Amino acid sequence: MYDYSYAEGVNFVMSNIKHYVEGIKNGEGYFGEQFRFSFLSVCTLIFHLVLAIIFFIFDCRLMCVIGSGSVLIYYLALVLSRKQKYEYALALSSIEVACFSVITTIAFGFDTGFYLYNLAIISIFFYFSIGWNFFKGSEVFNWIYSIAHFLVTIVCFVVGKLVVPWYDLSENKRMVFILINIAVAFVIEIGILFLLRWDTAYRNGTMTDKNSKLNEMANRDALTKLYNRRYMDRFLEEKLIGLNVDGKIFGLIMCDIDNFKRVNDTYGHESGDDVLVEIAKVFMDSLRGDDTVCRWGGEEFLIVVDGNKKVTADVAERIRTKINELVINTHGRTISVTMTFGVAESIPGYNIEKLVEIADENLYKGKQNGKNQVVC
Ligand code: GH3
Ligand code: MG
Ligand code: MG
Repeated sequence: MYDYSYAEGVNFVMSNIKHYVEGIKNGEGYFGEQFRFSFLSVCTLIFHLVLAIIFFIFDCRLMCVIGSGSVLIYYLALVLSRKQKYEYALALSSIEVACFSVITTIAFGFDTGFYLYNLAIISIFFYFSIGWNFFKGSEVFNWIYSIAHFLVTIVCFVVGKLVVPWYDLSENKRMVFILINIAVAFVIEIGILFLLRWDTAYRNGTMTDKNSKLNEMANRDALTKLYNRRYMDRFLEEKLIGLNVDGKIFGLIMCDIDNFKRVNDTYGHESGDDVLVEIAKVFMDSLRGDDTVCRWGGEEFLIVVDGNKKVTADVAERIRTKINELVINTHGRTISVTMTFGVAESIPGYNIEKLVEIADENLYKGKQNGKNQVVC
């Protein structure tokens, strides 16, 4: 029997909160569109509730009623947000701001600053249109909304000039409105800029992630996951600069699987691939952090070792022994292979092609001499 208990409801809420907090902590994110819209609606609703209470305390009964109407409108905006009808929620908010600022100007005069919300809301329109899918391509709406609110600001100014305010507020009460309105307009602007910075950082972060993944893919061999020749060419150029500028000696090992064609012919190409992958693992496990290996071509690998000829030859011998002892399980069979290694030491003034050629020549000598050996 399944019991939808109270505890389960609490669990659901807690796991959602945890999800949000984790998202923010990991920098991945992220309150969704719906949450943001709902959050903004709730904040505005609470703000109008506070205003309505202040109107009541200041004995402005009619404004208290009108203010309560605004509370209802933001409740409606909240409902629309929950139904993901964000355009309608925003349009409703826009109309509310325009009407409310004109009415409050008529009620209290222009200098109480209620017109400020017409200017503050413009950033909100533009904020929602930047990178937010449902407003993308509707730049023209931003301008219509923005110009409309600019015009309403002018209307407030003219109304303030022409109409005698309903309420003759004391200087202190006027000051309360002015300070609240300036402060809230400021908070809206700062809040939007903060959100914008947060979103930009998030987007830049995901872009950087994607770029580094692409870069990594471009530098790796798909089968063995070792670096590819493209990467190694650049790496060797850097090593050469290190050699010629700082005198940092390095060694090259060119190595090749012995009789690999026979492996393919006997066990099939797929088993051949498995052998390549297992050998790549041996390289990875055998090399120190400073040493680098790449798949140079089909079954040829090039290793760059930080050290002189002696150190490099030792590394080659260590790897040769390991591969000699390696037993590879593939498709229900076991295969053993050997490899031959040609070693070269970096020589100042030589270019990469020349150094690789020396390693290649030594590899060739090893093949001629019976394979499964290291030649310096
Ligand atoms: P040697 O000891 O002289 O190096 O003999 P070998 O048979 O290894 O040399 P050869 O160059 O004649 O053959 C290399 C073979 O490697 C031929 C090619 O089909 C195979 N090969 C190259 N790349 C791959 C690959 O990605 N997967 C598989 N399975 N085989 C590959
Ligand atoms: Mg070979
Ligand atoms: Mg070969």
